[in-house]
Amino acid sequence: MNFDLTDEQDDIQRLARDFAVGEVAPIAEEIDREKRFPYEVIAKLGELGLMGIPYPEQYGGAGADTLSYALVVEQLARIDSSVAITLAAHTSLGTWPLYAFGSEAQKVEWMPKLTAGERLGAFGLTEPEAGSDAGNTRTRAKLDTSGTGDGEWVIDGAKQFITNSGTDISGFVAITALTGAGEISNLIVPNGTPGYAVGEPYRKMGWNASDTRPLAFDGARVPEENLLGVRGQGLHQFLRTLDGGRISVSAMSVGVAQGALDEALKYAKQRRAFGKPISSFQAIQTKLADLSAEIEAARLLTYKAALEKDAGRDFTLTAAQAKLKTGRLAVRATEEAVQIHGGYGFIEEYPVCRFYRDAKILTIGEGTDEVQQMVIARALGA
Ligand SMILES: Cc1cc2nc3c(=O)[nH]c(=O)nc-3n(C[C@H](O)[C@H](O)[C@H](O)COP(=O)(O)OP(=O)(O)OC[C@H]3O[C@@H](n4cnc5c(N)ncnc54)[C@H](O)[C@@H]3O)c2cc1C
Repeated sequence: MNFDLTDEQDDIQRLARDFAVGEVAPIAEEIDREKRFPYEVIAKLGELGLMGIPYPEQYGGAGADTLSYALVVEQLARIDSSVAITLAAHTSLGTWPLYAFGSEAQKVEWMPKLTAGERLGAFGLTEPEAGSDAGNTRTRAKLDTSGTGDGEWVIDGAKQFITNSGTDISGFVAITALTGAGEISNLIVPNGTPGYAVGEPYRKMGWNASDTRPLAFDGARVPEENLLGVRGQGLHQFLRTLDGGRISVSAMSVGVAQGALDEALKYAKQRRAFGKPISSFQAIQTKLADLSAEIEAARLLTYKAALEKDAGRDFTLTAAQAKLKTGRLAVRATEEAVQIHGGYGFIEEYPVCRFYRDAKILTIGEGTDEVQQMVIARALGA
């Protein structure tokens, strides 16, 4: 077993770290406070080739492996989760279904714009009545072949909590829809399609500089060829997409937990109480030591899931284990970091305050903890 990164992995990790520290850290508090989508940051990530890391160069991607991608997401989340989730949702959820299941014509049309970061892809699975129970999709798409030439899908329904769906550079949302009795398929719905309305952004607990919106489809029409992949395989395709997404969400959790530890350690060495730095108190040291050990274990589990994916092995179990382990850790680590900061941890000028708010969604999005437990139990044969 080799725990060393390759030179390429090392390089991309350093690139992401330098970018996060140099370009994201100075504005992270501001974009969170202003709830402003950081277009300039996304444009720079695109220029650096980081908006399509695991995709082949023929489609404008970086041609790197899943571990490289996880390393980048981790380093971004170590500084700011809004930027990290924008890149991660775009790469794993928005772009992946198109790359994995799309036709060559669909890939040629969309992939170069997506991998360059000129357009963002969104993934529309969740509905008001279909979250964990993703198969309960109510959105319908009916094929209308009454006109001349090819048919059109006519879409009616609603999606909820969709990341990257309503920015100025959002290109499309790939959705699940009922295309027949008990038949769920995926469709690509470009932004600007008449009858497709993107709602106002949610007021969220965290991830404030990321874009999350409700979507409404009212007789929205897209060409028949906007079917993504095989008709009737939509839920299966999206669940496979989520397996991969869980690796990047795990990387986010490791990143935010590490960022919380970084800040807590720095603060503990500066802050004095009873005539000493608080880092000299055993009660503080045990918190820091426990977090360090937990983070390293969680990191290794996340990297293992990425390596399994790259090896072409079934990584569903490891990705679910990693998501369960890391999400909980992110919540705990950020809480401990706030505790170590005392009252200052409750004040927004300190990054741990934002980290604490940003962490909670990591036990919910891309499958709740309870869903991960179901996936793991199923894999165990329970
Ligand atoms: C900021 C944000 C961004 C998001 N981005 C996207 C996106 O880009 N695309 C997208 O499609 N979705 C997105 N989501 C949706 C997210 O994936 C869902 O919120 C999540 O899957 C949970 O679904 P739900 O909210 O409907 O909760 P529910 O499914 O209603 O769950 C409520 C509670 O019941 C529990 N529960 C449900 N079923 C069971 C069961 N069988 N056994 C035990 N417990 C159970 C759950 O674990 C949870 O605790 C996003 C959500 C947020 C908040």
